[in-house]
Amino acid sequence: MKYISTRGQSTPKSFSQALMAGLAEDGGLLLPQSYPHIQAHTLHDWRSLSYPELALQIISLFATDIPKTDLKVIIDKTYTKEIFGTDEITPVRTLHDGIKIEGLSNGPTLAFKDMAMQLLGNLFEYVLAREDRFLNIIGATSGDTGSAAEYALRGKERVNVFMLSPYGKMSEFQRAQMFSLQEANIFNIAVRGMFDDCQDIVKALQNDHAFKQQYHLSTVNSINWGRIVAQIVYYFKGYFAATNSNEQKVSFCVPSGNFGNVLAGHIARSMGLPIHRLLVATNENDVLNEFFSSGYYRPRDAVHTFVTSSPSMDISKASNFERFIYDVVDQHADEVQELWQQVAAGKGFDLSLLLNKIHHQFGFASGKSVHADRLQTIAQVYAEDGELIDPHTADGVKVAREHRDIGEVVICLETAKAAKFEETIRDAVGTNVYIPRPDHLNHLEDLPQRVTVLDKDVQLVKQYLLSQLDK
Ligand SMILES: *Cc1c(COP(=O)(O)O)cnc(C)c1O
Repeated sequence: MKYISTRGQSTPKSFSQALMAGLAEDGGLLLPQSYPHIQAHTLHDWRSLSYPELALQIISLFATDIPKTDLKVIIDKTYTKEIFGTDEITPVRTLHDGIKIEGLSNGPTLAFKDMAMQLLGNLFEYVLAREDRFLNIIGATSGDTGSAAEYALRGKERVNVFMLSPYGKMSEFQRAQMFSLQEANIFNIAVRGMFDDCQDIVKALQNDHAFKQQYHLSTVNSINWGRIVAQIVYYFKGYFAATNSNEQKVSFCVPSGNFGNVLAGHIARSMGLPIHRLLVATNENDVLNEFFSSGYYRPRDAVHTFVTSSPSMDISKASNFERFIYDVVDQHADEVQELWQQVAAGKGFDLSLLLNKIHHQFGFASGKSVHADRLQTIAQVYAEDGELIDPHTADGVKVAREHRDIGEVVICLETAKAAKFEETIRDAVGTNVYIPRPDHLNHLEDLPQRVTVLDKDVQLVKQYLLSQLDK
């Protein structure tokens, strides 16, 4: 299987090349020339597979330049009970009101990004060894992505991680999670500034081509194809867990920001998984809800992006959206290129004429949840089910409840654990409710922390990198 660009101007790549490349040379996103179609008898055979067995079947369709025996070793050491808490890996439960929840946040950092990042860490290690290469991952994070990347790459050979975060802006838990890592290949840099300042520094370093090449800089952001592939698996797993036969259909409700998670659902559906609808749930930053209701895509800048109590969805330019639009315009790369020229010019675009197709052929619908909804949903689920859901999952449950049709089975994806967002949970249910945490995280905040604090200055960050890399 070869990977091409949504904008049609890059040379076809292997899976391993797509994994390492990030963006395509033409500025587009990489995706396979076509999605494999799963026959009914194959879907039938897959129903009884364990998570790692299913992952091997699905991922080997895409990672065709890695021998299946090697892929099996990589997958078997990734999706384990030790790392994800249960043999099911993504257990499905049912709330009192019938909404199903698929647990994707039982990994090391308590957010769904572990599902893909843990695999990516092992894939990187494998490909780098095979090609005798080294990599310095540089990234900016406001919380979940950075910690998921660090936990996936800690102690790995041939790779360092330099993660920039805004000084004093993350929750105490998130800081402790990242800064307590003691592995020599993990470097935390707290920048005196905002998340956008961190991102600007990363971009500037990426654009310093001589530096980038000499020091093998790379990223693991949400557009990485390897992350999308890993996420396809749990749509199949969730479907099998929620049904008894492949005659049945289910819908998924997905708390969304960069459109990476729900894109994997779109691909699973395109492969033939019997998904009825994909419900995109947004918070106050509702660019995607606006698109799926009106057909207008109007990304906003940082100034017009709200800081909310579901912070991992505070995104107003959905970086993976281009892969979906490529399908909407029937894989016409020239059209995608034109649309994203309009985005780059700050105008956005209008696909209202295709809205019917987006709803009916692709099964998309959407909804929005705001702070008050979030608190109310957390409190309601706590009252009815005696369990605490996190603010992002609460956005999903709110939208699922509002949009569910009679008889429709809706699986809401649980994207984080409540323990990660204690402050909002306390606002919802009061201060004397016990918020459960996995045992190994009980004294997280007491561990010694390693972090270097720098002013928001590209040269300072570059000097710091050099001082570590030239040792
Ligand atoms: C990243 C994240 C999301 C959004 O996922 P996208 O793939 O960016 O749409 C939602 N919830 C949590 C907890 C996250 O960490």
